[in-house]
Amino acid sequence: MSVKQANRFGFGINQSRLINYDTSDRKVREYVTLMEPSFRLCFACGGCTAACIAGQHISFNLRRMNTLIRRGEIDLLRDEVTRCMLCGKCLLVCPRGVNTRNVVAVTAEAIRKLDNNEL
Ligand code: SF4
Ligand code: SF4
Repeated sequence: MSVKQANRFGFGINQSRLINYDTSDRKVREYVTLMEPSFRLCFACGGCTAACIAGQHISFNLRRMNTLIRRGEIDLLRDEVTRCMLCGKCLLVCPRGVNTRNVVAVTAEAIRKLDNNEL
């Protein structure tokens, strides 16, 4: 939807909330889904985020990270992915059995590959 269309009837979408799927990069999402298929099962309940140790001390949110992967917002993801300590606590609470720790690991791998033009 173009910005012009979004502003119809006097209503508009906050610019910072707009996601341009034509320019967002889906390669990381495709790589993560291929390498860790359980990523598809995430229904964004936030259980992992509530249990996350890193998130109790710094600004880090695994559910937000999953959303960034799906949206292909690589610039934001690049910073987010470095904040996880890979402790695995989130694995214990996910009701869908998502291998959350591996999602973080393969996301970091995908970004590395993307930066080296290997993806
Ligand atoms: S706990 Fe599992 S299903 Fe819930 S947001 Fe985290 S990864 Fe997704
Ligand atoms: S593995 Fe990462 S996301 Fe999961 S609880 Fe530990 S620090 Fe948080």
